[in-house]
Amino acid sequence: MSGPHVDAVVVGGGLAGITAALDLAASGASVALVERRRRLGGLTWSFAHHGLQLDNGQHVFLRCCDAYRGFLSRIGSAGDVELQPRLEITAVRPGPGAGTPPTSGTLGRNDLPAPLHLGRSLLRYPLMSRSERLRVGRAVLGLRRLDLDDPALDEETFGSWLDRHGQGPGALGALWDLITVATVNLPAREASAAIAAMVFRTGLLEDHAAADLGWSRLPLGILHGERAAATLERAGVSLRMEETVVSVGPADEGCPGPLGVTTTSGPLGADMVVVAVPHTVAGSLLPAGSFPGQELLEKLGTSAIVNLHVVFDRQVTDLPLLAGVGSPVQWVFDRSASAGLDGNGQYLALSLSAADHLVGRHPDLIAAELLPELERLLPEARGARVLETLVTKERAATFRAAPGSSCLRPGPSTSTPGLSVAGAWTATGWPATMEGAVRSGHAAAAAALDSSGRRSPTRRPTTKRPTGKPPTGQRPPARQSPARQPTTEEVA
Ligand SMILES: Cc1cc2nc3c(=O)[nH]c(=O)nc-3n(C[C@H](O)[C@H](O)[C@H](O)COP(=O)(O)OP(=O)(O)OC[C@H]3O[C@@H](n4cnc5c(N)ncnc54)[C@H](O)[C@@H]3O)c2cc1C
Repeated sequence: MSGPHVDAVVVGGGLAGITAALDLAASGASVALVERRRRLGGLTWSFAHHGLQLDNGQHVFLRCCDAYRGFLSRIGSAGDVELQPRLEITAVRPGPGAGTPPTSGTLGRNDLPAPLHLGRSLLRYPLMSRSERLRVGRAVLGLRRLDLDDPALDEETFGSWLDRHGQGPGALGALWDLITVATVNLPAREASAAIAAMVFRTGLLEDHAAADLGWSRLPLGILHGERAAATLERAGVSLRMEETVVSVGPADEGCPGPLGVTTTSGPLGADMVVVAVPHTVAGSLLPAGSFPGQELLEKLGTSAIVNLHVVFDRQVTDLPLLAGVGSPVQWVFDRSASAGLDGNGQYLALSLSAADHLVGRHPDLIAAELLPELERLLPEARGARVLETLVTKERAATFRAAPGSSCLRPGPSTSTPGLSVAGAWTATGWPATMEGAVRSGHAAAAAALDSSGRRSPTRRPTTKRPTGKPPTGQRPPARQSPARQPTTEEVA
């Protein structure tokens, strides 16, 4: 094998790969980024549909997502996101019978130090009984005392931890699952207590402003993909789009550089390689034995996110977002402006996390179930005409953050000098999020630079090493077809 040589190759152009490529280029390295699709941004993408720009799914971040917000600044997109001055979530529960009005409450904060900043809003929160509200304090105290690095925490579900801390089904539905499902992409009854506890501690219990919500004012394809492409090009990174990497490892004889990358266009030699692809692909792309438990990556599994996009002929809510309680409608976002909807209509994106059960369901059936439920939350929708519905399904939106998942997530370094691994699924300490992806990109670039004997110019972010030992005796990870795209299905 012979071919051109670059200092560094980054495999995968999601947020992790973009970050790693920018860090490597900033160190003075010549960098090639290889991405199998024709766009950057990975799991954050947009598409045109009947004159609108729709995202594959609503993406939200928190004020405490420092790495992600730094990424936005770096690619020139920081001014194109909305960030709440103070956390404010309107939660709505449908009325008990047909035609009865819904009950709504606000979860928000004031400027008192955490966790007192939530106290006033929780005490007035009408979607929980008085005793449920009072018992929340017990779980909050328990969360504050937890050792998040205790491997035992990853052996139980967050639901069972909440049970032991006095939280009944009412509190689970009206409060804990509202956050857990959206951030961990599993309900508390299935989520690892370690990952969910990290989310609540970081987002709600340490800094009073940490959980203020942010979202893009632009389609994600512009906010991330287009802006990142321009920034990478300015940084001198060679973008090799629509090229799939088929193998990575020590270079064959004749290939320049200690490492070799084979793509659908031929071989590349490099001193450093960052593999920033999903875990469903990484296990089989990396040389065997790259990190302990590599053959068990398949056990990380996947969890789906489905979005129902609905265009109404008129405005049905003036809220930018709302959360459903006791409803199959989880979160609703007004995306009219970002999609470019003109006139009097309104475009709402209904985001459904932990949605494996919806992946095989026909879009018509999803719309038929959710539209009446939306009307129960938003009575104004009853008189409005639905102009259009569309369902987007991301089967592998995140890894499955179930008990036992923490020890399956590797750190950035591998057993091969110069070769490192990135992605929201690696051991970032975060669930699979944009923040986790960016953190992993920084960590992988730093690890590649360190182990190849170069110095990293960037701050080394904190990454969490997996705790515990990987389970044994499991099947090797399945190979995913590089050509598979997430499914987008049109309804009616
Ligand atoms: C619908 C949806 C909603 C979400 N909502 C949120 C949210 O609200 N907040 C939040 O923080 N996170 C959210 N997430 C999660 C977030 O999008 C991801 O965690 C993050 O974008 C993952 O980035 P990544 O770079 O690790 O991986 P990816 O985005 O998966 O990037 C990997 C890249 O590698 C490329 N690739 C794969 N194989 C090869 C190969 N062999 N050769 C070359 N290239 C290859 C892929 O094409 C892809 O571009 C959501 C995800 C989805 C799908």
